[in-house]
Amino acid sequence: MTKAIALYSGGLDSTLAILTVMKQGIDVTAITFLNHFGCDISDRSSCSKDPFAASVKFGFKVKLSHLSDKFLEIVKNPKHGHGRNMNPCIDCRILMLKEAKEFMGLTGADFIITGEVLGQRPMSQRKNCFPMIDKAAGLKGSVLRPLSAKFLPMTVPEEKGLVDREQMYDFTGRSRKPQMALAQEFGLTEYPAPAGGCLLTEPIYAYKLKELLEHDRDPSYTDINLLRLGRHFRFSSGCKIIVGRKQDENDAIKSVADRGDCLLRVDGVGSPLVIVRGALTDEAVSFAASLCARYSDAKNLPEITVTVARGDERSYLKVRPADNELIELYRIEKKAVSASNVGVGAAPDVLRSRVLLKSPSDMDSHTDAMS
Ligand code: SF4
Repeated sequence: MTKAIALYSGGLDSTLAILTVMKQGIDVTAITFLNHFGCDISDRSSCSKDPFAASVKFGFKVKLSHLSDKFLEIVKNPKHGHGRNMNPCIDCRILMLKEAKEFMGLTGADFIITGEVLGQRPMSQRKNCFPMIDKAAGLKGSVLRPLSAKFLPMTVPEEKGLVDREQMYDFTGRSRKPQMALAQEFGLTEYPAPAGGCLLTEPIYAYKLKELLEHDRDPSYTDINLLRLGRHFRFSSGCKIIVGRKQDENDAIKSVADRGDCLLRVDGVGSPLVIVRGALTDEAVSFAASLCARYSDAKNLPEITVTVARGDERSYLKVRPADNELIELYRIEKKAVSASNVGVGAAPDVLRSRVLLKSPSDMDSHTDAMS
């Protein structure tokens, strides 16, 4: 029996490509590649992608494969450059095809299919790009793109008669109408909206990632995972502060925090969880405390006590809430002047007015909400 391996995102196009080939009696195994910059498919509340939904309905197997360090390397140093943001689409396609090729060898499959549509994406789905990508992956002639096959050169499986070119399609461009009509023919009624999923294409996320890489060429996965959470502040080249914006972000920050990080919150009122990572100077922690105070429900008080946890230790800082000027100065966002240009790490006067309390007995009242 003819076998194919499919690159499968869980989206409409890759599902249709699989169904088109399965219709010809070909056995398809799909691979969904994961990386640190996609949606988290283990968390259905934050991601609409369910790679198993169509596979269950139509009866094809799905394997999950995490690209991990290999993907981070191409994000940092893409041979073919980034797209509009931090997306290294050409290198990404090459990497996924290389991985699929290995799997093809292991399973004895005959060729690979993708749901790419000619002209749909500016970077990697141009006519002259496909042969270049296939060749770079060592798969010249072995990648079939069923949705645009009639516009593309014959592939090896077509020449060998393993698949019938006439039963494939000539879709081009960005319109989804032909795909939606085909989905109806197949009885495919539920599929995610286009785009989304790859954070590297989002300008705000891409800016934060670029900023991180400027300060640390080898960030940890915790640093990368934190990029999708909260408000980000650069206190110094070696120190970042992240402020949770809502309860689920607070929970996520707490779950990824390392033992050496500082976690701050204002007890007894609605408060963000704030994490300080890297060079934990007194000034950095004081600034983080003033941010914590500023984004808490006690922000209108002149002075607020913030609980600082590091490992099993607790201490308490009395601070004034950070004002807008300080927030603008340190916040990592595209419109802001880079903090590194304005003396990042220098302690503004407001940070020097803190009072450090060593134990709960120094305080009027205390509840530990961080354990
Ligand atoms: S959008 Fe993201 S996942 Fe898709 S090809 Fe580009 S880099 Fe890869």
